[in-house]
Amino acid sequence: MSIILTNSIEEVRQNIKAYKEGKYTIGLVPTMGALHAGHASLIKKAKEMCDKVVVSVFVNPIQFGPNEDYEKYPRTIDRDKKVCEEIGADIIFAPTPKEMYGDKKLSNDEITYVCPPYNLVDCLCGKSRIGHFDGVATVVLKLFNIVQPDFAFFGQKDAQQQFIIRQMVKDLNVNVEIVSCPIVRESDGLALSSRNSYLSKEDRENALSISKALNQIEKLYKSGITDTEILFDAGFDVLKDNVYLEYIEFRDYENFEKVKTAGKNTLVAIAAKAGKTRLIDNIIL
Ligand code: AMP
Repeated sequence: MSIILTNSIEEVRQNIKAYKEGKYTIGLVPTMGALHAGHASLIKKAKEMCDKVVVSVFVNPIQFGPNEDYEKYPRTIDRDKKVCEEIGADIIFAPTPKEMYGDKKLSNDEITYVCPPYNLVDCLCGKSRIGHFDGVATVVLKLFNIVQPDFAFFGQKDAQQQFIIRQMVKDLNVNVEIVSCPIVRESDGLALSSRNSYLSKEDRENALSISKALNQIEKLYKSGITDTEILFDAGFDVLKDNVYLEYIEFRDYENFEKVKTAGKNTLVAIAAKAGKTRLIDNIIL
C-alpha cells in the first residue's frame, strides 16, 4: 500500500475508522517536518510497536512567538514524504493552519487553548518562549483527538515538552501511551534539529560546545561531583566563548523539580543561541 499524504482531517478520520474496525494499533509521531534522522528514529520505533503509523507534519503557528521563526521554518514536504515512505509509515497528515484552526483569529480570544500547569511552563524554555507550550499542548491534543492513537512518540530532546504532554494526558484523561525516544546526534555530538539548517559554518562549530558542555558535566558527575553549582560552572566554562547561554538547568526527570544535588535520573538541559539560532539539548545522568 502506498503512503497516504493528506491535509484533510476528514480523510484521516476515515482511515482511522477503518484501522479501528480492523483492530489495528495506531502510532502517532507529531512533527513540524523537515524530517531528519531524529524524526526517523521516532517513526521507526512507532513502526516497531504499532500496526499503523501516522506522521503529522505541521508547522504550528500558535506555538511560535511574534519574533520567532514561523515564516522561515524549513518546509520540505516532498523529502519528508520520502523519509516516511522508506520507513513504511501509513499516513502523513500535513494540514494547513486553516484546516486545523479554521478562519478564527489565532488567540485565546477566539479559539480554545490547553493551558498546561504554570509550574511546568514558567521555567526553562517557557521563560523565553511565552505561550509556546500552550500552543504545543493545544495542537498535540487536537492531533490526539483526530488520530486517536494508542501510542504517541516524542523525543527526549524536547524534554520539557514531553513532560508537559505527559501531564496533559494524565490531567485530561487522554487514552494514549506516550513513548520517549533517545536523542539522535551527528557523529561529532551535535543533536539533530531542523533548525541546524540555519547554522553557518562558524555557528555550527560554536553550537558543538552545547553537547561538549553536557559531556563535561556528565564526566564530572561520573567522577563523583554532584553539586549542581559546580557542574553548572563546568558547563558554563565550555559554553561561554561560543554561544549565548539561556539556561543550564538540573531537574529530576521523574517529577521535573529542580535539583541541587545531581543523582541518577537528573536531567541536565541547556538552551543557547549559536549566532541567531536558538538550540536545545540535554542528557540524563
Ligand atoms: P519537531 O519537528 O522539532 O517538533 O520534533 C518532532 C519530534 O521529534 C519531537 O518529539 C522531538 O523531540 C523529536 N526530535 C527532534 N529532534 C530529535 C533528535 N535529534 N533525536 C530524537 N528525537 C528528536
